[in-house]
Amino acid sequence: MPAPELRDEFDNLMEEAGDAVFRVDLQGQILFASARASTLLASKNALAGQALADHLPEEDQPALRAVLADVAATRLPGRVELRLKTPEQLLWFELRVSGFTNRADQFELLVVGRDMSVQHATEERLRHMATHDALTELPNRLLLSDRIRMVIASARRSGQGFSVATVGLDGFKKVNDGLGHPIGDAVLRMAAERLRKTLRDSDTLARVGGDEFVAVLPGTYTEAQIKLVTGRLIATLQSPFEIDSHTIYMGASVGVALYPEHAEDEVRLVALADAAMSRAKETGKARCVVYSQSQSGPPEHDISLEAAMFQAVREGEFLLYYQPIVDAHTREIQGFEALMRWKHPTLGMVPPARFIPIAETNGLINLLGAWSLKAACVQLKQFQEVAKRNLYISVNISPRQFRNDKFLDVLDDAIAFSGLLGEQLVLEITEGTLMIDPVHAESILSKMAERKARIAIDDFGTGYSSLAYLKRFPISVLKIDRTFVRDLPGSQKDGAICNAVLDLAKHLGLSVVAEGVETEAQLQYMEQRSCQYIQGYLTGKPMPAHVAMAALKERTYAKVVTNDLRQVHP
Ligand code: C2E
Ligand code: CA
Ligand code: CA
Repeated sequence: MPAPELRDEFDNLMEEAGDAVFRVDLQGQILFASARASTLLASKNALAGQALADHLPEEDQPALRAVLADVAATRLPGRVELRLKTPEQLLWFELRVSGFTNRADQFELLVVGRDMSVQHATEERLRHMATHDALTELPNRLLLSDRIRMVIASARRSGQGFSVATVGLDGFKKVNDGLGHPIGDAVLRMAAERLRKTLRDSDTLARVGGDEFVAVLPGTYTEAQIKLVTGRLIATLQSPFEIDSHTIYMGASVGVALYPEHAEDEVRLVALADAAMSRAKETGKARCVVYSQSQSGPPEHDISLEAAMFQAVREGEFLLYYQPIVDAHTREIQGFEALMRWKHPTLGMVPPARFIPIAETNGLINLLGAWSLKAACVQLKQFQEVAKRNLYISVNISPRQFRNDKFLDVLDDAIAFSGLLGEQLVLEITEGTLMIDPVHAESILSKMAERKARIAIDDFGTGYSSLAYLKRFPISVLKIDRTFVRDLPGSQKDGAICNAVLDLAKHLGLSVVAEGVETEAQLQYMEQRSCQYIQGYLTGKPMPAHVAMAALKERTYAKVVTNDLRQVHP
């Protein structure tokens, strides 16, 4: 009996493989398909002899041709994600393509397909949840910014202005407090629906806060147009809401800002429309106010704070607080996140949410960030001496800092100056930071990895980018955003998101920190789902270094919290 051909052996092996495997020629004709591949595509005829591309939707066929041609030309392996047609539906697959020379000395291609539909569905679900308000299903603030940026881009091209209108329900708080949250929620859902019906399809309606909606109105710019639209918005909310046996009367105040007259970026446009809405509320409600320069809005306020910040740098008014990151199971402190504080002589503790965005705009963040990185590293050294064991320090890196040319020097300086090992350092960045310039990000991240510093994705789930970057970049940690933990264990939707993130992390070999854990029930929820690390008020608020040191001496966490740590938060 002749020795079996290598190719037959190979095909036999493939038959047993769990993946869908094809051998194809350079034109993409199937020479052989594994059993899994045949079942999947459920082809009535033998797959051999058919074109692999015929099993793809038309839009995905060019991507397949490109990768096959590429592998044939370069002889280097390639990969592509695309959809395969199965009898029931289209399924996402990752196809890995490599080439080999067969016995007849011809170059052939091996295509191994892995089912990615679960990942894609998770991705889609996360994306939807991260960009929509759960109650009304309207876009949230994140998606709103995105939409406004798109409208700005098209307004630039067409030269036609547009307006942003903020709609606040008058008297909502009374309804919510007096009749209870379920009725309040029903009012919000109905209000959202009525507003949506009043607007055109090309308008965007988002829910941005408890009782606040924002409408983006492309092409609505003149006074007459604005009056017409906002008049309708107010009127639709004035007709009574019939819920259960209640008849509820509400009203609405509207504020409007115009592009480009009042502002040319999305943040300012919304802030100014908001300021105008406050003005409408102050001056009698149930009306619309268009922003005017004389109105005092957030920008003027920021200017004085900005001036004070430069002063504060000179006076050394910035300091770092440290929040413990604990093991969910043993509850032992594993590390700390360094969080910046500004101790202003008259304003008191100014929260970072107020001053970091300003520092980010004027560039002061580079200075503050360099200082906080170095100070945090030095502090960790001291923490370790007290604890007599290794800990890690997690430091926030802002987008502008990350893009700064000097960032790697700053990092090296902090490591050298403190004498820490790179691996004791975690750098927290957001998805947004990575996505501004992925090519640059990739190069910086790989240099961070050379220094052994770990990368954590902060506020994970709130960004709106593709999850594909998790594979592309050397990331070690995902920090589940506080907004997904807050309503646990009650909220099914948040539970689904947390489970999806934990699942994703497990498959990608990443560790997870759940942020904002405030209750024992939340901690247990996370622990039961193998979330390794916890950070939140339950196990410690951000605290000054000397209090953190006392906590380290105590070792177990719960005890310290019930003693005096609750009082140290500013
Ligand atoms: P972040 O990085 O998401 O930090 C976590 C925030 O959640 C902190 O707010 C922390 O005090 C708060 N937090 C932690 N546990 C709980 C909890 O159980 N419940 C609640 N309600 N909140 C909790 P903080 O300190 O006000 O910082 C706000 C943000 O400012 C940070 O969000 C971060 O984005 C930024 N930030 C703070 N320090 C720095 C810094 O040194 N550099 C940069 N670039 N950004 C910083
Ligand atoms: Ca953080
Ligand atoms: Ca965070």
